Amino acid sequence: MQRFKGKVVLVTGAGSGIGRASATRLAAEGGSVFCVDLDGDAAAATVAEIAREGGSASAWVCDVGNESSVCEAIEACIEAYGSLFGLVNMAGILRFDDTQELQTEQWQKIIDVNLTGTMFLCRAALPHLLETKGSIVNAASTAALSGLPCGLAYSASKGGVLAMTRSIAVEYAKRGVRANCICPGDINTGMTDKLTFPETMDYKLMPRIMSLSGAKDPEVVAGVIAMLVSDDGAHITGEDIRVDGGTLS
Ligand code: NAP
Repeated sequence: MQRFKGKVVLVTGAGSGIGRASATRLAAEGGSVFCVDLDGDAAAATVAEIAREGGSASAWVCDVGNESSVCEAIEACIEAYGSLFGLVNMAGILRFDDTQELQTEQWQKIIDVNLTGTMFLCRAALPHLLETKGSIVNAASTAALSGLPCGLAYSASKGGVLAMTRSIAVEYAKRGVRANCICPGDINTGMTDKLTFPETMDYKLMPRIMSLSGAKDPEVVAGVIAMLVSDDGAHITGEDIRVDGGTLS
């Protein structure tokens, strides 16, 4: 399948997990992938993996929570490839805090990266996506759909991403740009590997975020993202697709 032949897709969080799996999948289907991450070595490793498979990609260091850094990334992508067809916003951070102990700066950091960062990317990419009748896929979460104990800031950020994505979908539908969310759950990535929990965490509440069939690798999400970005998703916009092994079913 070469659904992205001649098309350019920018992926954030491309150095790890779902972003990395998405970048390699989009490149394997013929896309030119602009791999953005805070960690330049990680983004370069994704690019090297794509190149080994004969794909086309380049790496760019960007803090998605920083407006000028995001504008520079979009400009660099257009300078390198001349157009933009897909935007896949996977950069994100997660930490668990007892709600009463949550520090304002921790709340702000999660909102800045997950929600405001996603907005920065969408806003800067939209003029280019209008030219190609392109498509956006944003990372929400099952935490946007169901309560996440000790995940106040994260769930608020992901609920915001979901609402924002629907608003973009409605505003731009007639102009040919689509915007959707994926809501992953229980995917093995760098994010889930390094989680720590507060002492007050009630683990009996945690099955609500465990998939029924066990944790899965990020490729199961990447395939859905590729479908949503591609013309196979031509009549899907404003949607949130759970890729959670039935957790919330
Ligand atoms: P991951 O493996 O940690 O990958 C996220 C990537 O984003 C990392 O490379 C990270 O770099 C990068 N990043 C963090 N802050 C950034 C910033 N300010 N600017 C640019 N890049 C930044 O996480 P993942 O599990 O693949 O998650 C991908 C998305 O899916 C996230 O938005 C996450 O919230 C969402 N999600 C994941 C799951 C799951 O089960 N894994 C479930 C629901 C939703 P560093 O490693 O240097 O921080």
